[in-house]
Amino acid sequence: AVVTRFAPSPTGYLHIGGARTALFNWLYARGRGGKFLLRIEDTDRARSTPEATQAILDGMAWLGLDHDGEVISQFDRAPRHAEVAHQLLAEGKAYKCFASQDEIQAFRDAARAEGRSTLYQSPWRDADPASHPDAPYVVRIKAPRDGATTIRDEVQGDVTIRNDQLDDMVLLRSDGTPVYMLAVAVDDHDMGVTHVIRGDDHLNNAARQMMIYEAMGWPLPTYAHIPLIHGPDGKKLSKRHGALGVEEYRDMGYPAAGMRNYLARLGWSHGDDEFFTDAQAQEWFDLKGIGKSPARFDFKKLENICGQHIAITDDAALLHDVTAFAVAQDKVTLSDVKLSRLQAAMPQLKERAKTYPELLEKAHFALAERPIDIEEKAAAQLDTVSRGILSELTPQLQNATWSREAIEALAQAFAESKDMKFGKLAGPLRAALAGRTATPSVFDMMLVLGREETLARLSDASG
Ligand code: GLU
Repeated sequence: AVVTRFAPSPTGYLHIGGARTALFNWLYARGRGGKFLLRIEDTDRARSTPEATQAILDGMAWLGLDHDGEVISQFDRAPRHAEVAHQLLAEGKAYKCFASQDEIQAFRDAARAEGRSTLYQSPWRDADPASHPDAPYVVRIKAPRDGATTIRDEVQGDVTIRNDQLDDMVLLRSDGTPVYMLAVAVDDHDMGVTHVIRGDDHLNNAARQMMIYEAMGWPLPTYAHIPLIHGPDGKKLSKRHGALGVEEYRDMGYPAAGMRNYLARLGWSHGDDEFFTDAQAQEWFDLKGIGKSPARFDFKKLENICGQHIAITDDAALLHDVTAFAVAQDKVTLSDVKLSRLQAAMPQLKERAKTYPELLEKAHFALAERPIDIEEKAAAQLDTVSRGILSELTPQLQNATWSREAIEALAQAFAESKDMKFGKLAGPLRAALAGRTATPSVFDMMLVLGREETLARLSDASG
């Protein structure tokens, strides 16, 4: 069975690259009935914070990337990492190195002067344990000295590194604490991880981690190192480009479903499909579809995809998400009246809104309270003549049947009687009902607002 994992270091927010890595692992596992595990790589005690761990958990929860089992803390597993180092020591696959920092530095200086590799070669590698001093030591792995290590990567292809470019890396520091590379290999093995999908900045680490697997006789996982995300100009992703924490995307009002869809397309493709559901993404996602060159982040595409997701979200779910967004952003308080207006308007509102703020802007008529605020552009529609016309129309609406057909017929007939095009009437009506120029159709707004509120707004505007 497939087991993937996301292994963030809790040193900041969950940024967009990390979110995509998590998503790829989630899709791969979910599409195969596998497990998706979460490991917090908190061994760097100086840089890891509980706030960062919480931000990662919040970001994943918002994105809907649910993980299986408990959240694993890498730091908590330090005794197990040390145990593996001691096993390798006992089996002669690792050794105690007593070299001091000064000795190592002297080795490097001499090597540089003689034009040799400066990778440290410890004289303790083959020393007789009987000759060991009673002094502090680090534990080093016995790296192969010749030959080569080939990482069979599902994205990068075969990547071969000459073994003379790998040194006898330290597994345990002199205070007995395990190094990061050991922790990753042991954790991935113990967690039963079958597929390691992560950023290609970890490609070189794979060769070192493989050394540990091989020394322990463990079967290797499948590796897939994915290219990083770049900005639209092909340069390294910066803040300006969208290298933000996922919570910033949440706060900008992008729907999580759209975000998942867009992030999935960032570096992975399935034919020409741009817009798809979670179910489709889970079914289609595979390692073969991951591109070899860096994907470019593009806000336009993100918005486009988000708009399509808003349009297909069912009204009740959308009402829930938009309301939660509006309340969280503290832009509105939502009385029952406003909520039911929002609900009634949802079929119109969700068309062509790319973000929740856009949707809420169109929903202004439903959320505003009398006397409604009228934007300058809209106010321009309410000159003396228009106000006069509205005050003539108002009493007619008083007695109309409150149905689309009836109101529409009445408004048409009214426009004809005034010898004006209906379009000329729509502008002032829109301004009076919504105080905005971008709104749903005037009839939709009237039906959502109801007779009483409609008439009140019309007389507010014409009075
Ligand atoms: N903790 C590493 C990072 O946040 C990921 C390590 C891994 O996936 O093996 O970059």
